[in-house]
Amino acid sequence: MIRYTILLTCLLGAVSIAQTPASKEVDTVYPDAHALYLDLHEHPELSNHETQTAEKLAAHLRSAYDVTEHVGGTGVVAILKNGSGPTIMLRTELDALPVEEKTGLPYASKVHMKDDAGRDVPVMHACGHDLHMAAILGTAEIMAHSKNTWHGTLMLVGQPAEEGFGGAKVMINDGLFTRFPKPDVAVALHVGNTFPAGIVGVTPGVYNTNADSIRITIYGKGGHGASPNTTIDPIVIAARTILSLQSIVSREVKPGEMAIVTVGYIRAGTKNDIIPDQAEMGLTVRTYKQDVRKQILAAITRITKGEAAAAGAPREPLIDRYQGDDSVYNDPALAQRLRAPLEAALGKDNVVIAEPITTSEDFSYYVEEGVPGFYFSLGGGDPGKFAEAKASGNPLPSNHSPLFAPDLGPALHTGIAAEVAVLRNLLNTSADELHKLTAERSSH
Ligand SMILES: [Zn+2]
Ligand SMILES: [Zn+2]
Repeated sequence: MIRYTILLTCLLGAVSIAQTPASKEVDTVYPDAHALYLDLHEHPELSNHETQTAEKLAAHLRSAYDVTEHVGGTGVVAILKNGSGPTIMLRTELDALPVEEKTGLPYASKVHMKDDAGRDVPVMHACGHDLHMAAILGTAEIMAHSKNTWHGTLMLVGQPAEEGFGGAKVMINDGLFTRFPKPDVAVALHVGNTFPAGIVGVTPGVYNTNADSIRITIYGKGGHGASPNTTIDPIVIAARTILSLQSIVSREVKPGEMAIVTVGYIRAGTKNDIIPDQAEMGLTVRTYKQDVRKQILAAITRITKGEAAAAGAPREPLIDRYQGDDSVYNDPALAQRLRAPLEAALGKDNVVIAEPITTSEDFSYYVEEGVPGFYFSLGGGDPGKFAEAKASGNPLPSNHSPLFAPDLGPALHTGIAAEVAVLRNLLNTSADELHKLTAERSSH
């Protein structure tokens, strides 16, 4: 039964593939990429634990590429030198998420792992990084078999721990740009349901948000739940703080500026009749502009301290901004230039200009190292379901959802075709020309 369903899925995939303008050379590498996808999807691994994943990717690339493993943890670097020319990096992430898959697909993940806190959690490739790895394999095979179509150095990077752990930074600190050639341009894509499969979105300039992760610990005075007068209740302070924090975007930030303040968790207490002595909560803050980011971070500090003081808390709250990622900046000249090869490969109507998105990405670390970046969106939605969702106003599941399931055949085909088109264009340009083209990048 399972075999039959897989066969049916492949056949259905093949039907939709025939309708996409992907080239014949993608068809020749597609079976390998598809098989790797199914394997990775069924066997996901959490951030910083992508041991098997990295080994699989490295094993597939080793025949044609010079492969180094364990760069920044489980990171993989694969280099193919092909004469003089620029160095172009193409990156995929390796990690999956603590999400229980509910897609019902025949190759759905049933994996559980221990997370870093020792808890048993379900694991799923709910962000599509499996599709990115499969695409990079297809692209790697095409580039290795068509060395007469480009020259320079191709650098493929399998990066661990993208999901909030800054794996890009760890790879850089482990010599990504010193032990290996420093790229003239870095490229990556991300699949999502913002577009139907077959489409790619290009966003010149700011691609996504600055992301700040904040942990707040509020201190109170514990005691019996039936004697609240002898305590200072940190849960009540936390509740007031959360509501006050929600007034930052609505009352303090200029209308029209992109700003998000989300309290994603709150932890306090052990039992119904005990007032605990502290409460902890975790926030994410998303912005496009640096001045809005500063304004919000300052407001969070002011409000959190103010609420604790108003309640007579025995200590000031601890406000720990434990991670801050900058937004990914797409070099506008590069984005402009790469539209033409994408349109030639995918069809003019299948390349669209896309709005910046509200999620974040540690790809920004590569850009901060002075490497101009081109990060683009890959449509993942089944075109029929996408149209239905649009008509009903009920969007398809987003990345990180237990129901996230890209329309594999067309999305993977398009991803490979797009990556090859972008790489060939860049690898047919001299490093000098690329430097000139991207010289304005620092002005954002
Ligand atoms: Zn992702
Ligand atoms: Zn993600």
